[in-house]
Amino acid sequence: LSKRYLITSALPYGNGPLHFGHIAGVYLPADIYYRHLKLKGENVLHISGSDEHGVPIMLNAQKAKQPYRDYVNHWHNEHKNLFAKYEITFDFFGQTSSEYHKEETLKWFNKLYADKAIERRDEKQLQCKDCNNFLPDRFVEGTCYVCKYEHARGDECPNCGTWIDPLRLINPVCKFCSSQNIKVTDSYQYHLLLSKYHTPFMKWLGTKKDSWKKTVYPYVESLCKESLHDRAITRDLDWGIDVPLDEAKGKKIYVWFDAPIGYVSNTKECLRLQNSKDDYLKDWWLNKDTVVTNFIGKDNIIFHAIIFPVMSMVSGFAKPVDDLPANQYVNLFGKQFSKSQGWYVDADDALARFGVDAMRYYLISLIPENTDSSFTWSNLEAKVNNELANNIGNFVNRSMKFLHKNWADGVKSEYALNFLKTDLYKSIMNKLEKLRIHLDSCEFKAALEQLMSVGHEANLYFTEMKPWALYKTDVNEAERVIAESAFLSYLLGVFFKPFLPHLSNEILSLFEDKLTSDKVTQKFYCGDIDVFKKELGAKIVLVKEPQALIPKVDQKVIAELEASFKE
Ligand SMILES: [Zn+2]
Ligand SMILES: [Zn+2]
Repeated sequence: LSKRYLITSALPYGNGPLHFGHIAGVYLPADIYYRHLKLKGENVLHISGSDEHGVPIMLNAQKAKQPYRDYVNHWHNEHKNLFAKYEITFDFFGQTSSEYHKEETLKWFNKLYADKAIERRDEKQLQCKDCNNFLPDRFVEGTCYVCKYEHARGDECPNCGTWIDPLRLINPVCKFCSSQNIKVTDSYQYHLLLSKYHTPFMKWLGTKKDSWKKTVYPYVESLCKESLHDRAITRDLDWGIDVPLDEAKGKKIYVWFDAPIGYVSNTKECLRLQNSKDDYLKDWWLNKDTVVTNFIGKDNIIFHAIIFPVMSMVSGFAKPVDDLPANQYVNLFGKQFSKSQGWYVDADDALARFGVDAMRYYLISLIPENTDSSFTWSNLEAKVNNELANNIGNFVNRSMKFLHKNWADGVKSEYALNFLKTDLYKSIMNKLEKLRIHLDSCEFKAALEQLMSVGHEANLYFTEMKPWALYKTDVNEAERVIAESAFLSYLLGVFFKPFLPHLSNEILSLFEDKLTSDKVTQKFYCGDIDVFKKELGAKIVLVKEPQALIPKVDQKVIAELEASFKE
């Protein structure tokens, strides 16, 4: 068996719109990595899907007076549409409320229960005396017993980050009916006995010391060094997957137990829909030659670095994650996105205004690889106009228009082939080699910087050579410069594929089909240009007239948008 890559992106929660933090923090990096591996000819799957259980969905569906099923389907479709517009591609994007996911989750629960990794424990629980509902997690709010913040939730204090014991909340309030008439009742839940597996877990974690990011490994290590804490993985709710035990009537599996299993169940469903002969476990999740990479934000580290790896190791249903390039946050003008407080930009609307190339380009520069980053409209304008339009758009547009106008039947290919012997070409190859190494290491910003530097060199070369002046004095020399520019434009078209697929298509569509097939571009991307040379023929011909590639962002529009964020 040869090497395989399983890329997973955090399952977006089916409870509201996605913002730039989600896109730049998780889905865009995963998509670039996926496209990069595909171009290298690797066997790779990109798996994700909607996360559709849990209390916030229940509360919001009730508020919207919608059945849970309709509510989650609505957000599932919204998210899928947004991803399509941002050209974020998956092999499969499923739903955790589906039948196949329930089947896979029950398989895991039953195995862990049989292996005594799950145990029933009696515990106290809050119950509303007025509406009779049990009040787990976010169904109860009260004052935090650590920082005194007044809207701490039953699972977490949003102010100080404490993992809350709901029984200790001060002045608890029922989120169903706003009653403060709350009692403590005897109940029981099923707990995942993480503490039992501390030793094998730490041994596994130690193997990640050098490969995980400096923002991930030390954090996880410090949380786990002493011990692992057992966790309740069931709840008394009416939306979710039933606990598969006769004695546990009415209890549901906790959303954080079933959500990561979604990576596995969605892989199974993906292969089934592809009519693949692969077995989702033997060939993928349990294959020692599979590299599993989870793309997540920093708020999801505990579940991906600790809880799901333990579930995977103990059940034997999946190998634990190999790489966990968790990102920091993207803010909006320095503050966290908040739709309810109006501190928010609609990702759909921004894309409709500025186009997918501009948005992806700016968002790549915001990928918060090591520190939080911040979205501002004026930075979008600067990045797009000064870098993407002035550099890449300008070079390809000017040079290819000149070619199209003056050499309708093409420029001599031998000029482009001679260019391969120059120092400029060697310097460019060097940068592209660095680009591939950065992408192998999930360093997306550094990779794109290498490509922008190639574009800058090409643009500078074209400007210095002045082919429009040469055309009047030495037409052969002008043809040489234009043939080289055509080669460089093609090269940019190929190497923009993982970053800006729309721009890449626009550039490559200028060239003959024989040069732009997957076979030719894949080899070219890997630095092997023999197939390209073989297909090239005597002349480089453009099959259509070049159109403006990157529309400039309008300063007036930016000033208006920016004004709404002045306090
Ligand atoms: Zn607090
Ligand atoms: Zn109540």
